[in-house]
Amino acid sequence: MDVDIVIIGAGPSGLCLARSLSGRGLSIAIVEQQPIDAIANPAFDGREIALTQHSATAMKELGLWQLIEPKAISQLRDAKILDGRSQFEMLIPHQLSQYQELGWLISNHIIRRAAYDATQEAIKLNDDIQLIPGCKVTKVQTTQHDASVTLDNGGKIKAKLVVAADNRFSTTRRMMGIAADMHDFGRNMLVCCMTHDVPHEHIAWEWFDYGQTLALLPMNPDPTTGLYRSSVVITVASDEADELMKLSPEALSKNIRERFDNRLGDMNLVSTIHSYPLVSVYPKRLVANRFATVGDAAVGMHPVTAHGFNFGLLGVQKLSQEILSAHQIGQDIGDQVLLLRYEKIHKRKTRPLFLMTRLITEIYSKESLPAKFARTALLHVSERLTPFKKSIALALTGR
Ligand SMILES: Cc1cc2nc3c(=O)[nH]c(=O)nc-3n(C[C@H](O)[C@H](O)[C@H](O)COP(=O)(O)OP(=O)(O)OC[C@H]3O[C@@H](n4cnc5c(N)ncnc54)[C@H](O)[C@@H]3O)c2cc1C
Repeated sequence: MDVDIVIIGAGPSGLCLARSLSGRGLSIAIVEQQPIDAIANPAFDGREIALTQHSATAMKELGLWQLIEPKAISQLRDAKILDGRSQFEMLIPHQLSQYQELGWLISNHIIRRAAYDATQEAIKLNDDIQLIPGCKVTKVQTTQHDASVTLDNGGKIKAKLVVAADNRFSTTRRMMGIAADMHDFGRNMLVCCMTHDVPHEHIAWEWFDYGQTLALLPMNPDPTTGLYRSSVVITVASDEADELMKLSPEALSKNIRERFDNRLGDMNLVSTIHSYPLVSVYPKRLVANRFATVGDAAVGMHPVTAHGFNFGLLGVQKLSQEILSAHQIGQDIGDQVLLLRYEKIHKRKTRPLFLMTRLITEIYSKESLPAKFARTALLHVSERLTPFKKSIALALTGR
């Protein structure tokens, strides 16, 4: 098979890239190791994705937003940060941004399904995308003039450009000899949906407690009971996470209620619970000869600052813009100059928050007595620094 671009991975980033390139005279193949049913009907994976206003606009432009039921989109109006066992809260109100809310929340499996449906619409309209499910890319080769990928069924696809969207541990990035800085936090993030007594008022919580970090992401009311509902995120040491995963739903609900210091009243588990090991990854290079990375393959964020997919969409926008401009004027779409331009801009947009996230997690995981004082003092000072809070509000909206 011979195409212009081959994308490895039909996760949300790979599908969004294909969708954004469709209809402009390019032929695209997407190779995905999972079977078609897993791509078309992705299962609930516990992740509630906080989307910036910028991402909401990007998803509207790609036609994804319109495919999502309004009741599956929840408002993230304000955010608050808590520390230790103190009752003090630093509030980031939406008024510090130009919007009515800081952002939005949508379940990851719903975003994935919308990305698949939008790609199907593009296929119907333009007939320029071939989705190849159930096949793993086992080899990537590039020369000065072209590139190719080999599949585990023995097939081969030739292309002008290969784009890896195959997750933060991208095997194809490694095949291209790109090294990456990886940081294993030794912790796991547990995610699930819970109903609770006390209203969340659409305020997201990030609670840097001692020995654990808790987050609460406000969702729309439970569709069957009408009770207040949130996505609950618990970050603990990996062995503790394994123990929590073994608890019955009743015991887990009680455990989580106590972790939240009963501040939300009674809490009940209303979904399956999922555990993710925390490893952040930043590759040394985002591109190589006729090869580029997008999504988590380009920047594997720690989820605490909720920017993984938001950065994925930014990368998709920039890379497709570069490819389409080159194609429009008859230039080679695998040209190094355009790939390096993408790399430079995407690094500039993502690296500062990547490093800042690392710093925040380091400061707020220290628990010596002086560190506890410093953590509390930092939060109290920040509460009074409106420009600082405004910069957080703007980061959350994606500006
Ligand atoms: C707990 C948690 C909470 C999060 N919260 C947020 C948030 O609030 N906001 C936010 O913006 N982001 C958040 N994220 C990050 C977000 O989920 C990811 O950035 C996003 O899902 C990555 O999408 P992707 O398409 O790049 O990669 P993936 O979804 O990992 O897709 C990669 C695809 O490539 C396929 N693949 C892999 N190798 C091969 C191969 N060799 N051949 C063929 N196919 C292959 C895989 O099967 C997979 O389908 C969170 C992540 C976690 C874990």
